[in-house]
Amino acid sequence: MLQIPETRKKRVVILGAGFGGLTVAKKLDQKKHQIVIIDRNNYHQFQPLFYQVAMAGLEPSSISFPLRKAFQNKKDVVIRVAEVISVDPIQKKVETSEGECTYDVLILALGATTNFYGNEQFAKHTYGLKSISEALQLRNDLFKDLESAILERDYEKRQGYVDITIVGGGATGVEVAGALAELKNYIFPKDYTELDYREVDIYLIQSGDKLLQGMSEKSSIAAEEFLTKMGVHVIKNTKVVEVVGDEVTLGTGQKIKSRKVVWAAGITCVKIAGLPEQLYTSGNRIKVNDQLQIIDNKDVYVVGDQALLQSEIFPKGHPQVAQVAIQMANQLSKNLNQSTSKPFVYKDRGSMATIGRNKALVDLPRFHFHGFFAWLVWLVVHLFALIGAKNKVFVFINWVWNYFTFDQSLRIILKADTKNQ
Ligand SMILES: Cc1cc2nc3c(=O)[nH]c(=O)nc-3n(C[C@H](O)[C@H](O)[C@H](O)COP(=O)(O)OP(=O)(O)OC[C@H]3O[C@@H](n4cnc5c(N)ncnc54)[C@H](O)[C@@H]3O)c2cc1C
Repeated sequence: MLQIPETRKKRVVILGAGFGGLTVAKKLDQKKHQIVIIDRNNYHQFQPLFYQVAMAGLEPSSISFPLRKAFQNKKDVVIRVAEVISVDPIQKKVETSEGECTYDVLILALGATTNFYGNEQFAKHTYGLKSISEALQLRNDLFKDLESAILERDYEKRQGYVDITIVGGGATGVEVAGALAELKNYIFPKDYTELDYREVDIYLIQSGDKLLQGMSEKSSIAAEEFLTKMGVHVIKNTKVVEVVGDEVTLGTGQKIKSRKVVWAAGITCVKIAGLPEQLYTSGNRIKVNDQLQIIDNKDVYVVGDQALLQSEIFPKGHPQVAQVAIQMANQLSKNLNQSTSKPFVYKDRGSMATIGRNKALVDLPRFHFHGFFAWLVWLVVHLFALIGAKNKVFVFINWVWNYFTFDQSLRIILKADTKNQ
């Protein structure tokens, strides 16, 4: 059993403590509700900066926040670390790896995971970037492979160790490519003097004809120009069709020697057993009405990446970004607190992506800019969005340090302790 304390208050069970779930939990009125948060991790993770952990720019702890610390001394907030397995909307129950619990109101906020489009080979041989563990795995292997490259005399085999392929030219792919190019240009020549850093090739593969499909034309063009100048090989209009060992094959037949393939080519949601099949739409998103309720069930809500709310402006649903999750969570908590049923309307505040130092792109609803000022805006927005004063300070210090020294000091290969295995 999950051992949830008995209560006379309305029990709101929130599945997932990402941007959506955590925001609802913080905004719900604790005088009226008992709030139960269930997540597989005991911390909230700030996904937009995963790539900086993977590229040794930030410590994992500076972009994560312990859930219990976020709700210290809050008697009516119950946290359970467990894997959600199924939902029974008739009996109003949730089953988890640690037992089950009942609810009065259920909020699904389980986000999305990497979409390998059903290809087991891609899932096995490439790196996703949807958790801190995956970011750390990539960081470890990146630096392990550089050590192996130093020992490898054969040029072709060495290419496999040093070259990196990124699949997907959306914001994540572009940001990873930029960060890697900075490592190659600023760090590798100093740290790996026995290697010719010019041998390191970074490939960014995009199936469509432009990078950053969701952003403006100007942003797409600027991103490609920045990356090309930094030495990234941008290959468009082709897909990766095979990844085997240290070889990547493109749809054009081109082969790339590269042991590390970062998969940033899309996301999908995970179906939760027990919910009616007809609720699921493309990418396993759950169809909701404008009050974020699932069809035919007034007690089950969905927010964030998992929710699909169709409207005239967003016929395919809203973009799966943090702002949507936060705004949905704000509206839902207001409705639950005040027993109102105001519809959710998304206020688009624009989008941005960064490529590297002094290089970012910002699209506001009617205005685009890129370069140094865009980069400053990107830094400030991400700093303020981070949870926890300590995290903001640590990340700020790290960025200032990296900016002036052209260096970051987290290039550590972490090994799991095997003595008790
Ligand atoms: C690498 C990367 C970069 C991004 N960059 C940006 C950006 O720059 N700007 C932007 O706006 N958005 C960005 N996004 C998207 C943004 O992070 C998501 O839109 C946002 O996190 C969605 O919030 P959510 O609450 O729906 O889900 P999430 O934040 O994903 O939270 C889901 C939570 O559910 C938990 N969970 C999932 N399944 C289970 C289960 N079965 N059992 C228990 N717990 C479970 C997870 O541990 C997690 O805590 C990025 C995403 C990634 C991966």
